[in-house]
Amino acid sequence: MKDCIFCKIANGEIPTDILYENEHVLAFKDINPQAPLHLLIIPKKHITSAIQLEETDYDEIMPAVFRAINHLAKEFKFYEKGYRIVNNCGQDGGQTVGHLHFHLLGGRQLQWPPG
Ligand code: 5GP
Repeated sequence: MKDCIFCKIANGEIPTDILYENEHVLAFKDINPQAPLHLLIIPKKHITSAIQLEETDYDEIMPAVFRAINHLAKEFKFYEKGYRIVNNCGQDGGQTVGHLHFHLLGGRQLQWPPG
């Protein structure tokens, strides 16, 4: 989608170091990391937020997202001490980029409530 920053990353318009890619999703480092390891996993297809997932996305996008997360968790050794997967959905959820994305955070003791 025009003017979507994550679409521009997905189509190569904004050069970004892609850490993982499969048919449906890709992953890269968050520009403003909140933990020693802070990655973003996004669908290549523009989906505004989790609430906009369509029927086929449940079968295609979501398995690909979790395949990417588990691959990255192993590659970056997140899994040894634990990690957090976050999806902010919509305004009250704190979503600031209108292209579905999952945060993968690790490398420090994370707080709950989130922090
Ligand atoms: P949200 O608040 O929507 O859940 O998260 C959006 C995330 O995208 C933020 O953590 C922010 O730092 C990250 N972000 C925003 N613009 C860019 C960008 O151009 N490149 C990268 N790598 N991350 C970005």
